[in-house]
Amino acid sequence: MRGRPSGGGAPVRMLAVMLVLALGLTAAAWAAAPGAADAQAGAGGKVKVVVTFSILHDIVRNVGGHRVEIHSMVPIGQDPHEYTPTPLDMVRAADADLIFWNGLNMELGDGWFENLLAAAGRSLDDPSVVALAEGVEPLYLTADRREINPHAYLDLLNAMQYVRNARDALMAVDPEHAAVYEANAAAYLAELEELHRRYVELLGSIPEERRILVTSERAFQYLAARYGLREGYVWAIDTDEQGTPLQILDLVRFVRTNNVPALFVESNKDPRAIETVSRETGVPIYAKVYSDELGVPDEGSGTFLGMMEWNLQVIYSGLTGR
Ligand SMILES: [Zn+2]
Repeated sequence: MRGRPSGGGAPVRMLAVMLVLALGLTAAAWAAAPGAADAQAGAGGKVKVVVTFSILHDIVRNVGGHRVEIHSMVPIGQDPHEYTPTPLDMVRAADADLIFWNGLNMELGDGWFENLLAAAGRSLDDPSVVALAEGVEPLYLTADRREINPHAYLDLLNAMQYVRNARDALMAVDPEHAAVYEANAAAYLAELEELHRRYVELLGSIPEERRILVTSERAFQYLAARYGLREGYVWAIDTDEQGTPLQILDLVRFVRTNNVPALFVESNKDPRAIETVSRETGVPIYAKVYSDELGVPDEGSGTFLGMMEWNLQVIYSGLTGR
């Protein structure tokens, strides 16, 4: 359905034009940002940060605390693999002290992130552009190791690496406040580690034959590998074709063969393919899970810790009936 673009020329030119138009708004845009009123010029001012999507926003917010002003690009409900930046994204990217992205090809699906960087006069090699997944052991979607799975943060030990990378980058651009970032990161790392321990304990207590996680996209590969689940999915990654008859048929067979107790559907995916699998097999869709975005504050999934807690609870309940 959607492949990689053959060349970035036209989108880059278009972004560049938008950028020139938007640059006039830079000062106004930052001044209008929440919390900007107490920002000062020079070393006392806040660090201007851009992140690609909501999960990274929350991770960086936890480390940066009151020292950072964060603009998050891909809104809830949209897909970080493929996205159309807004003029405001352009302005902030051109003006940022740091741009955090996931890395592992997460934001490279349709070239949007590289085009945005080019329009902002930066590139993936720029020291101000930091991949939070740096140092994580990649897992591959295919046996030929051609396609990396980008969703590394769904393994909480990897998420802790994201935190350390955010901490180190912030300390480098704002060394005066290094102690703040160290303290924030240490507190957050302790919470993530505690949740990791609960994942090990709770998912490890599910009878082995029921430890199967079925979703639309193969986003939970890192989680499954770390916490001992088998995976079923309709498509490998959102940049693939999504929900072809053959993909659905394969998953229907998988669900029947493995006596899968429950199906799950991601918050930001088209649910129709999984709904078809549910109808065909009689296995219910137990709950939504979060893979590429945060949930809503009302149900407690509006933070990264909250969404990971949500995922843990529904996976455990769905697979055990408890
Ligand atoms: Zn995804």
